[in-house]
Amino acid sequence: MANKRNYQKELDDLMADSSNKGKRLLIHACCAPCSSYCLLYLRSFFRVTVFYYNPNITEEAEYRKRVEEEKRLISEYNKLGDGAYEIFYIDGDYEPSKFYEASKGLEKEPEGGKRCEMCFALRLRRTGEVAREGDFDFFTTTLTISPLKNAETLNKIGECMGELVGVRWLPSDFKKKGGYQQSIELSKKYDLYRQDFCGCGFSKAERAMAKEEINR
Ligand code: SF4
Repeated sequence: MANKRNYQKELDDLMADSSNKGKRLLIHACCAPCSSYCLLYLRSFFRVTVFYYNPNITEEAEYRKRVEEEKRLISEYNKLGDGAYEIFYIDGDYEPSKFYEASKGLEKEPEGGKRCEMCFALRLRRTGEVAREGDFDFFTTTLTISPLKNAETLNKIGECMGELVGVRWLPSDFKKKGGYQQSIELSKKYDLYRQDFCGCGFSKAERAMAKEEINR
């Protein structure tokens, strides 16, 4: 049986190679809490640009709220004045119809199933395309920080998209090395809006049902 890959170690090895320092990285961000640790960790080594593209988010008000928090976090980090590279930001289009179109037939999938794989592919493909258009050296996502998301699935999809667009995928498993715990602490420190569902209407309904179950 093939050895399980350690994506965090692959990232560490890549960052131990000084020839990669200062390379341009486009990172897909899902929300400010997940970005908090990833950006802090990457910004001293890479010239990072955040790409906010999440057509999965169910309501526009929720989407805008997450966008504003993402921008606020970036501006807080850019004020730190600790010698790290400035973080830039690119707004993706909000196009929920793309998500609904692609989720047809996958509505009943549980969180972590086939619908999520499609959702990752949708977002990472667009991120890869923007990385190619912007001549970035690497692209990646903050999504691997979530303990609810499979890092292997995300990295495999990312690598496929990287091959498709011709930009190098940056491997990660940001939850490792205490990354997830640090994201909770940073979210508290910066008072970030922390939603209690992943993003789509299906995940919102699933979370509401789970809460109902607990309160029964
Ligand atoms: S649960 Fe999250 S990852 Fe899965 S389809 Fe919904 S928004 Fe996308």
